[in-house]
Amino acid sequence: MSEQEACGHKDTRMLLQDTMQSSGESSDPAAWLRETDIVSYDFPYAGQLLADSFREWRGLKVPPFAQQWDWSLLNYRGEWTGAADAAGAQGRLWKEAWEQCAAASLISREPVASAAAAPSDSSGTMLLTIPVFTRSNGEIFALLGCAMPAAQYEQGGQHTAEAMALHFQTCFYRRFEHVFVSDLAGVHQHAERESSRRSLLFQIVQRMHDNIDVNAVLTEVIDSISAMYPGARLELFMSQDHRSTHPQVKPLPLRWGEEDVCAKAFKDGRVTLHAGRDSNSVEIGLPLGGKQGVYGVFHMMLDKPSFPDVDLRFLAMVADTAGTAFENAKLYERSNQLIRELRMSNELTQRLNQSLHLGDIFQYAFEELLEMFDADYCCILHLNEKKGGLEAIACNFPPLRGEIIENGKGLGGQVFALGEPLILSEYRSAAGISSRLMTATGSESAIATPLSVGGEVRGAIMLTHREPHFFSYDSFRLLQAMAGHIGLAVGNARLHAEVRYLANRDSLTGLYARHYLDEEIKERQTKDFCGTLVVVDIDQFKMVNDTYGHQKGDKILKQVSEIVKSSIRHGDIAARWGGEELAVYLPQLGIQQARFVAERIRKRVMAETEPRVTVSCGIAEWSWVDERVSVESLFYRADMALYEAKNNGRNQVVVDSKNAVNNIKNP
Ligand code: GH3
Ligand code: MG
Ligand code: MG
Repeated sequence: MSEQEACGHKDTRMLLQDTMQSSGESSDPAAWLRETDIVSYDFPYAGQLLADSFREWRGLKVPPFAQQWDWSLLNYRGEWTGAADAAGAQGRLWKEAWEQCAAASLISREPVASAAAAPSDSSGTMLLTIPVFTRSNGEIFALLGCAMPAAQYEQGGQHTAEAMALHFQTCFYRRFEHVFVSDLAGVHQHAERESSRRSLLFQIVQRMHDNIDVNAVLTEVIDSISAMYPGARLELFMSQDHRSTHPQVKPLPLRWGEEDVCAKAFKDGRVTLHAGRDSNSVEIGLPLGGKQGVYGVFHMMLDKPSFPDVDLRFLAMVADTAGTAFENAKLYERSNQLIRELRMSNELTQRLNQSLHLGDIFQYAFEELLEMFDADYCCILHLNEKKGGLEAIACNFPPLRGEIIENGKGLGGQVFALGEPLILSEYRSAAGISSRLMTATGSESAIATPLSVGGEVRGAIMLTHREPHFFSYDSFRLLQAMAGHIGLAVGNARLHAEVRYLANRDSLTGLYARHYLDEEIKERQTKDFCGTLVVVDIDQFKMVNDTYGHQKGDKILKQVSEIVKSSIRHGDIAARWGGEELAVYLPQLGIQQARFVAERIRKRVMAETEPRVTVSCGIAEWSWVDERVSVESLFYRADMALYEAKNNGRNQVVVDSKNAVNNIKNP
């Protein structure tokens, strides 16, 4: 039983309140203490305090004639407690006699004496019990037993013994007051500590919630705990792909021992404490958790043999607060990030929509991605079926620009072949990946994604950085979203190109349409010095149709078209001018050379068509020295020449009379 328990039945804090109130009314500041007393409820717990007081009292000086007296202590029920001068021998012998006297004293509330009846006692000893009263209510809380020579008893020894018992009461109360006051002081100290902790916690909470920046929250909590436990070694392991510049913030280890405090704290989401190996230190794992999960764990090492529970509770509160503040900051950061992503994606799509030209789209995408991800290098690969590989269509590493990369080769080739995005944090230590871009640029981090157009993988986008672990998982995700936008824009541009191609072509022959030829000639006339138009018309085609049918007629028309296409240079424009009439524009070509081309066509048609047909050609030329020649008049003149060829018997080439020197006739 502890000394504190001796003043037990009433809560010490309540007593403190009572006494504070009463001390306000009294002029004696210590009066409240003297009014404090033990009552019958406390008696069962007062044994130790009594025994200690008894021992102390017996150690004090006594009058010389009382020096031989044997004293014993009996409890409030009159039972011998064993605390006695001669506990070993005499005391035990007198135990029963004392207890009888005590029983009588408890009833009479007076000292009771009896002669010692023990056989060993031949000298005549008087045994006496004296009640000891509480100071306020006069309850008997103990009795003192005294054995004195009968002769001294006769001479008034009882009065001395009673005075000595009063002295014992004083000693008891002095000790009681001491215990009471030190207990109060303890409570006070505890309250003070608690209040300073509370105010510290309040400050920490306030500071942490003032911070909406994730890193600042972590720095704040680390600094706060370090300030509270100056000798502690503290580190914070974070689970998210959370990069921090703080030297004490580290990534969660991939492997943890079963018994690791951090592993336990992280798994259970509760504070975990281990005694250190040398039993002179403690190791604490504090989870950093919010409403949505545990984000990390603090690891704390203290050179202390133990760690009080209150401190542990306090630390848990700090960690809880930090977790919530971290979560809030993270959510704030996340919403900011989403807004930023939305804005960037808007900008990108807006820019992509500015053009329907594939080259522009890749260039815009390349520029925007470099800026958006703060990457060192960007490379966009696009499938080039003609060249049989992936063309590096946009890249800020010049040696790679325009290169053809084999499907499956390198980082981009792999991403393209597998159709899966990829994130790389440390290129040097990654097995099985070899990339020319990464090696040549000294890059360590990369994110890459396939570029899908209309559900088909048509390329790959790569972003790299020299720093390892540069790209976050969010960036990786964002790139995939951006690749979706780019894919859509590429798809649109391709569709547009296809529509444009179709709109400018004749579907039966595959030659350009007449309006395209018109526009091209107009365009050429603004830049070139000269050009020639050849009009090619199948002779007696009506008859061919009538003879072989329309379908056969179509086939012949296609055969003639193929002959025309394969008889001209790259850059010459062959078009279907209407019906069975074709036209070829030969830029920068004079009339003589044009005549050769027309002749070649005429001869080949005659030789290669099946069933055989012939063509007549009319030729007209324009040159910059002429007065301005309109497209219409050029056509008109070529048509006139053709008319002449027909009139002259068909299967011949006729040059417009303005240009004509001589016309080649059907041989
Ligand atoms: P000419 O030697 O004077 O040019 O005689 P032609 O019969 O070729 O001339 P005409 O202008 O009288 O008739 C052109 C014919 O070409 C009429 C039409 O049936 C035929 N034709 C026009 N376009 C097509 C086509 O797309 N397919 C087929 N099979 N025939 C066509
Ligand atoms: Mg014809
Ligand atoms: Mg015709």
